[in-house]
Amino acid sequence: MKRWDVIVVGAGHAGIEAANASSKLGCSVLFLTLNIDTIGKLSCNPAVGGIAKSHLVREVDILGGLIAKLTDKTSLQYRILNKSKGKAVRATRVQVDRFAYQAQAKDFILDNKNIEVLEAEVKSLLVKKKRIEGVLTNAGLFRAKTVVICPGTFLNGLVHIGLKNFPSGRLGEPASRKLYDSLVSLGFTLKHFKTGTCARLDRRSLDFSKMTPQEPDKEAWPFSFFTSFRPFNKERCFITHTNPKTHRIIRKNLKYSPLYQGVIKAKGVRYCPSLEDKVVKFSRKERHQIFIEPEGRDSIEVYPNGISTSLPLEVQYEFIHSIEGLGNARIFRPGYGIEHAVIEAKDLFFSLESKKIKGLFFAGQINGTTGYEEAAAQGLVAGINAGLKVKKKEAFIPARDESFTGLLIDDLVSKGTDEPYRMFTSRSELRLSLREDNAPFRLFKDSYKLGLISRRDFSIIEEKLHRIKNEIDRIKKVKIYPSKQTNKVLRSLGEADLAKVDSGFNILKRPKLTYPDLAKLGCGLGLKDRSEVDQVEIEVKYEGFIKRETQQARELKKLARIKIPKGIDYSKLSGLSREIVEKFKYFKPKTLKEASNIPGVTPAAVLILLAYLKKK
Ligand SMILES: Cc1cc2nc3c(=O)[nH]c(=O)nc-3n(C[C@H](O)[C@H](O)[C@H](O)COP(=O)(O)OP(=O)(O)OC[C@H]3O[C@@H](n4cnc5c(N)ncnc54)[C@H](O)[C@@H]3O)c2cc1C
Repeated sequence: MKRWDVIVVGAGHAGIEAANASSKLGCSVLFLTLNIDTIGKLSCNPAVGGIAKSHLVREVDILGGLIAKLTDKTSLQYRILNKSKGKAVRATRVQVDRFAYQAQAKDFILDNKNIEVLEAEVKSLLVKKKRIEGVLTNAGLFRAKTVVICPGTFLNGLVHIGLKNFPSGRLGEPASRKLYDSLVSLGFTLKHFKTGTCARLDRRSLDFSKMTPQEPDKEAWPFSFFTSFRPFNKERCFITHTNPKTHRIIRKNLKYSPLYQGVIKAKGVRYCPSLEDKVVKFSRKERHQIFIEPEGRDSIEVYPNGISTSLPLEVQYEFIHSIEGLGNARIFRPGYGIEHAVIEAKDLFFSLESKKIKGLFFAGQINGTTGYEEAAAQGLVAGINAGLKVKKKEAFIPARDESFTGLLIDDLVSKGTDEPYRMFTSRSELRLSLREDNAPFRLFKDSYKLGLISRRDFSIIEEKLHRIKNEIDRIKKVKIYPSKQTNKVLRSLGEADLAKVDSGFNILKRPKLTYPDLAKLGCGLGLKDRSEVDQVEIEVKYEGFIKRETQQARELKKLARIKIPKGIDYSKLSGLSREIVEKFKYFKPKTLKEASNIPGVTPAAVLILLAYLKKK
């Protein structure tokens, strides 16, 4: 019987990256999934990226992954978030055509000669002497040297619509119960998390004249480093709001809410609350924003982002109809909540291999995360490491201080998570150094070493880096003198006169100056490429902040043993979020290290605590 190098279970966002990465390492891959037509399905909103998530997308991309390429091929609308906050903290968010995305993902996987896809349900794992041997499915037994498990929300999934619930992995798809039982019997610690989604509406039944259009950005830059075409960027979203009537309907019907009646016991996504949660927790807020997002270029379905719910269908109709522009909305698919099982990520090595069973890897939602991007990043790492294990090579462990992918895995494996984990830039000690724009420069060497990008791409990136460095060195040397002409230019840009001679580098630090302005000051321009120009601007303008951030990160490491006295009233520490205050109160850390090891506690929060202790 054939023995595969790698079996990947589950063709969601973790699974497709895992299968693709292992295949790129030259492994034979058997890809098992419940339904081959749902390969790469976007279960929730039709969008990829966003704050911190875009960093993961760009990292997965440079490590040979699919998510950014699929996004560019199926885009509807590009937006750069945080534009006004400066170049170093921007994030790309792209609306995609859900149906095209799935079709492209399927084509991509089916076209890969190293991957054999089979529609089958994995029911149990074949383990001998604490080593994985293969999987048992409804279509028979398959043997492999390594197995990557990515069953997403399907693992013991239970869908809730009002007080009714039924086993399901996603609405209309079966739950994965047997695999859950198998993991339990193998001694894995499993717990349950909850997530939810909103109803999908008939675009034709909405009154867009009562909503505010949200245009795409004028210019769209591809998500993927490897995309060579200008992506489609023409679809609009629309904005509307809930109102006091909507909130009254929600409050009146909380008795039918599985969340508020204790039927759903699992913890939900803190930063993506259901509408019932928003109405109860932020009771003073009179309205909540809703984005009406297109599901596809030619689709009559839309996604009303912001009104995720597990209330009964008749209540969903009632509250949706109370919203401006949605008065006659027809519902195609109801909103629902889902509870699903997750493993304890602390039971994994940093390679995402299980500590209990050799050759068995886990990635995606099953490790306690939420989101396509988080799933993709883990799938990629698990797929690479399954492949490396087959080749008897050392595991690839992306470093926490070099990538958000490393940070994600480090957080999960060393701290675990007691609620669905979503990526935020605040989770990083080095948020100004780890940016979406410099992901290729941070990871291309690793990628090439692993055989995930070609020699040609490696050289292109290396040459870019040289050009950036040379240009920074050059503008450090160019002197600009305080002449009439110089000061005229500076004034026209809204900047103060130059008092004494200075370098192009230092002058570029001025907030209103951009790199092209240097030409007007006689400094010349050594670069044209947008991505290279961006690097120069960011490196120059954020030099001081990046140095400070690096210093603080070092200081935090050194001061880990500092003791925290008893009885601190954390709610009085300004700058701590409600989440962090809750966690400090609950866990009562005794040292700074203990504080930083609490799941969800950010480096920024530890710095606030440190500052407080220093003051004391
Ligand atoms: C209702 C709902 C709401 C969500 N809300 C949000 C949100 O608000 N924000 C957010 O960021 N993310 C949300 N998500 C989560 C997002 O969809 C997931 O994080 C992401 O899809 C996880 O990717 P994954 O690869 O781990 O699993 P999935 O995308 O769930 O894919 C799992 C795959 O495993 C396959 N599978 C399962 N069991 C077996 C088996 N035994 N044998 C073979 N194949 C199997 C399935 O067929 C599927 O292909 C939501 C998901 C759902 C369902």
